[in-house]
Amino acid sequence: MDSYDLVVVGGGPAGIGAALSGAKNGLKTAIIERNPMLGGNWTNSYVVSILGVYTYDGSEKIVGGIVDEIVETLKKFGGTKGNVGNFIPFRPDEMKIALSYLVEKYKITTYFNSLVTGCELSKDKITSVKVVGKDGMHEISGKEFVDSSGDADLSYYSISKAMEGKEGEGWHQETTIPFRIANVNEAELIKFSKEHPKLVSAPLVDGKVSKIHINPPLVEKAKKDNELYLPNENSEFLFNTSREGEFICNATHAKIKDFRSGKEVATAINDLRHQVISSFEFLKKNVHGFENSYLMDSSPGIGMRETRRGIGEYILKRDDVLNGGRFDDHIARCGHPLEIHDPNKGLVYIHLNKGDSSWYEIPYRSIVQKGIDNLFIIGRCLSAEFDAQASARVSGTALAMGHAAGVAARMCINDNIAAKEVNVKELQETLKTQGAIL
Ligand SMILES: Cc1cc2nc3c(=O)[nH]c(=O)nc-3n(C[C@H](O)[C@H](O)[C@H](O)COP(=O)(O)OP(=O)(O)OC[C@H]3O[C@@H](n4cnc5c(N)ncnc54)[C@H](O)[C@@H]3O)c2cc1C
Repeated sequence: MDSYDLVVVGGGPAGIGAALSGAKNGLKTAIIERNPMLGGNWTNSYVVSILGVYTYDGSEKIVGGIVDEIVETLKKFGGTKGNVGNFIPFRPDEMKIALSYLVEKYKITTYFNSLVTGCELSKDKITSVKVVGKDGMHEISGKEFVDSSGDADLSYYSISKAMEGKEGEGWHQETTIPFRIANVNEAELIKFSKEHPKLVSAPLVDGKVSKIHINPPLVEKAKKDNELYLPNENSEFLFNTSREGEFICNATHAKIKDFRSGKEVATAINDLRHQVISSFEFLKKNVHGFENSYLMDSSPGIGMRETRRGIGEYILKRDDVLNGGRFDDHIARCGHPLEIHDPNKGLVYIHLNKGDSSWYEIPYRSIVQKGIDNLFIIGRCLSAEFDAQASARVSGTALAMGHAAGVAARMCINDNIAAKEVNVKELQETLKTQGAIL
């Protein structure tokens, strides 16, 4: 059986943060990923902007450390030019390259096409995970484990309990397949938006179109005329990918009841692909500037925002998020609003009570799995209420949680202690020396 100090399940932003942190802190680390690439939603679902590194108004940097190394590596491969206000746009292919480069650099053993389907326990500790791949079922053992599957898979396998969907109502945030359009004539688009401000707005940054809003009158008319298939939206939003004339659109939305069902996921994906081509054809036909554009690509996989969440030593509350919660055991900051893609109400943003320059703290206890001594739950599967996760899930924050999990895992192994026994002051000091902003 392959054996490691730290076993990370899921190679998305949270898992990457944990694996890099573990390896940089001296742990023999493995990362297990069901897809043939690293990056999770970044690369599989074209979430091509890192949010959460800055406050929502972009005035203050609130996440540092591992994210800075990823951004510098991306720059080296031409994958980003750095932040634009509160977000860091990047190119997904260069992200794949940068992440492969980093796992090689830090000698992190990577397992692709490998789905974790269960685990073995000894008392309150996980001893190994069960992995299914083309080579059949095998086990990988470890001393410390991180659940960064986004779906709290390992958390659930270990303790058979988890939170799922909106409390008391059971629905999930809607899913999306983003798509990229290239060769948009920005000059024509700007002219069109000035002539028809009620239909289209195209705000500029440094003379370039940064975002495109296709407003309800145009979208609703096209839907009424059966020219556009976009069941759950009455507007479309695109933002520039950092290349002239190239934009990404997040407007497609599909409901999902059971993220575990391959059949249901396929139904959602097929419907979303239909929305992609219909949206593209609608833009090409109705918005000046798009006449000679072409559909570059849509994301390989489906973008899941929220599915299942672990139950930790503390459950981050909606009120903690909205009221700028402060915790003695904080390990990260986040300033993103609650962003809820509600299947009934559409996209709802609820801003932090102290405004877009404020932030709240994520407590260490909410990344420590309750009832298991050696499991951290980070990123989308953080121990948080549905509404709190709607903010804390952004990828910059997920990375920061991963950083903390990697350092805490090192401390658990060094001191032979359970995750909940970690000396948090020491953890915070170590994180700060490694660039984290606390
Ligand atoms: C359409 C969309 C737009 C978004 N926009 C933004 C944005 O602009 N900026 C931003 O910062 N955030 C955005 N988000 C949120 C952000 O993408 C996620 O919250 C973030 O990716 C969370 O990272 P994660 O590592 O927790 O989860 P994920 O990115 O979901 O990664 C989980 C990884 O675990 C793997 N995995 C799952 N189960 C298993 C298993 N059993 N065994 C092995 N591997 C497994 C998955 O394949 C995946 O690679 C968006 C999300 C969506 C869906």
